[in-house]
Amino acid sequence: MTDTVAPSAVRTLQQYIGGQWTPSSASETLDDRNPATGELLARVPLGSKADVDAAVRAAAEAQVAWRRTAPQVRARALYRLRDVLDQHRDELAALVTQDMGKTLDDAAAEVGRGIESVEAAMAAPHLLKGQNLEGIGTGVDVESFRQPIGVVAAITPFNFPAMIPMWFLPFALATGNGFVLKPSEQVPLTAERYVELIEGIEEIPKGLVNLVHGAHDAVNGILEHPGIGAVSFVGAAKTARYVATRATEHGKRVQALGGAKNAFIVLPDADPKTMAGGIIGSAFGAAGQRCMAGSVAVLVGTQEQQDAQLERIVEAARALRSGPGDDPQTDVCPVVSSDARTRLVGEIDAAERDGIQVVLDGRTADPGQGQANLGPTILDGVPQGHRVATEELFGPVLSVVRAKDLDEALAFTNASRYGNSTILFTESGGAAREFRYRAESGMLGVNVGVAAPIAWMPFGGWKDSIDADLHANGEDGFRFYTRTKIVTTRWSGTSTTPTTGGMRY
Ligand code: NAD
Repeated sequence: MTDTVAPSAVRTLQQYIGGQWTPSSASETLDDRNPATGELLARVPLGSKADVDAAVRAAAEAQVAWRRTAPQVRARALYRLRDVLDQHRDELAALVTQDMGKTLDDAAAEVGRGIESVEAAMAAPHLLKGQNLEGIGTGVDVESFRQPIGVVAAITPFNFPAMIPMWFLPFALATGNGFVLKPSEQVPLTAERYVELIEGIEEIPKGLVNLVHGAHDAVNGILEHPGIGAVSFVGAAKTARYVATRATEHGKRVQALGGAKNAFIVLPDADPKTMAGGIIGSAFGAAGQRCMAGSVAVLVGTQEQQDAQLERIVEAARALRSGPGDDPQTDVCPVVSSDARTRLVGEIDAAERDGIQVVLDGRTADPGQGQANLGPTILDGVPQGHRVATEELFGPVLSVVRAKDLDEALAFTNASRYGNSTILFTESGGAAREFRYRAESGMLGVNVGVAAPIAWMPFGGWKDSIDADLHANGEDGFRFYTRTKIVTTRWSGTSTTPTTGGMRY
């Protein structure tokens, strides 16, 4: 890879703290490159605990007045955010493609999903309402209130730079909190643009939203900071477990959404077109780098039926074109970096050495200028216990295992340590109902390739795909960012006998 811009001309990103763009206190940086071209886009400072501390102080200061701002007025600020994001949809999508690599269509869909989260958070005046019960004793009533945590932080992954920060930012603000965002150091540019856009919204006070770039040190700064009450995290399962453990040790509320190994179960009566289209879109869209991407197909039926299903999938996948995300002809974008491609090729090589058949070989695709393209790859004859059937590879690699019936298929999928999503393809309502009852995943799909819930519903998996009680988005978003206070009140001199009831009216 050669740099087209002189490395000295490449800017180093700044933090956004207390309404000011300021250099990080850390001198070490990482290179942020366009995966399609290898172009050096920016240098990302590896922010320090001191940067986090400054961000938390700013957020805490701004939060005092923000908490006192009426919920409907806070919701109105989100209406403004929604409009500003909507006006910049195309620009944001282009930035996602440049920084992360996915196709423009996919990036636009991601930006749209982020906007939907803002829309869902606008329901704050409704969803922050408490409950009450009158007359639990003589002159005694009880009522509940939802109050903000104070300052909350989000640590986000590389694969959805526009959508995932919005799973948290609008809900945190809607509920009256101050916010610190630490985006992935691999894709920092969308978060930076978000903050620039927020800077122009006068209804969102300066200091309320803060941006700290970095990796481990910044994350540890967040996990240890006594001024942060709640941490939202999305990333790999191992990092999620670390974040959840460390945050809990420091007395914080935490929701840590981790990795996945999502399976498709294909029954013999599945509609072939829906099945093959759904599977290839899910397994190879965004080059398999979605936490909801299916990466194991469990083909159910006789050998003949399974072979016919596989043929349909391979045929559909063969027609996909790999290339840069900004080319409208591209179906399969590059993976996030040349290092990621090297790792994935290593996984395919190792599987092949173990006797697994590579029935569609993405290693032969042109790696592109950025050395990060890997074509769609399908592995057949995968033993159910092999790591390509059980572990997340996070690339355009689909493993095929076989099962004689739905019971055997569910025994395999339910044995997974992950539980983000499982998809069933069938035309049988009875089988679908059985699947819905027995599948051990947080997000199921029937005859859809990607079962990502809309923002008005909570988003989250089970088992090692999450360390949390409350999921992201939807009503869970409101619950996670608020503490419940129950107030029991007695007033003397109030009525002790019922004034209504019985036959009086
Ligand atoms: P990652 O875990 O490498 O990074 C996520 C965040 O954690 C980044 O901000 C990074 O700076 C930080 N981080 C990474 N390693 C760390 C460490 N050792 N100590 C402290 N901080 C650390 O994840 P990624 O590669 O950016 O994202 C891909 C992963 O995210 C996949 O496993 C994918 O399944 C998962 N994911 C899950 C969901 C979900 O909803 N469950 C959604 C999207 C992505």
